[in-house]
Amino acid sequence: MESQSCGVCGGDGQIANSFGSTTRCPGCHGTGRRTEPTGMRDVTKTKPSHQRTAKEVAAAKGPQVPTTFEGVKLANEVTANAALTDAVKAKIVREIVEHESSHGSCTQTFLKKVRKQVRP
Ligand SMILES: [Zn+2]
Repeated sequence: MESQSCGVCGGDGQIANSFGSTTRCPGCHGTGRRTEPTGMRDVTKTKPSHQRTAKEVAAAKGPQVPTTFEGVKLANEVTANAALTDAVKAKIVREIVEHESSHGSCTQTFLKKVRKQVRP
């Protein structure tokens, strides 16, 4: 039952998104080990040091994938959901990217809204 492997990436430390590129697993920060239980409350006492500023996000003009910590995490939750079709996944990921570009980061309201779609 209890495994030391990260439940998000399965111990690889990397996650393949729907665009075919890999990104460092946000669940374990690339170590492949589980650091904290998932599915619990997202609110942590520590400050989100991984969150980038809107300026940094804009500077990193990469592919259309989320760039903030919360955005990547959410996108990974979406792409890992077997109940969703690829088209729906791509649509939600695109919404995350658009939200990030207009807000600079993912708001809690937005995260809740998307998670509601992912977990009806
Ligand atoms: Zn991981």
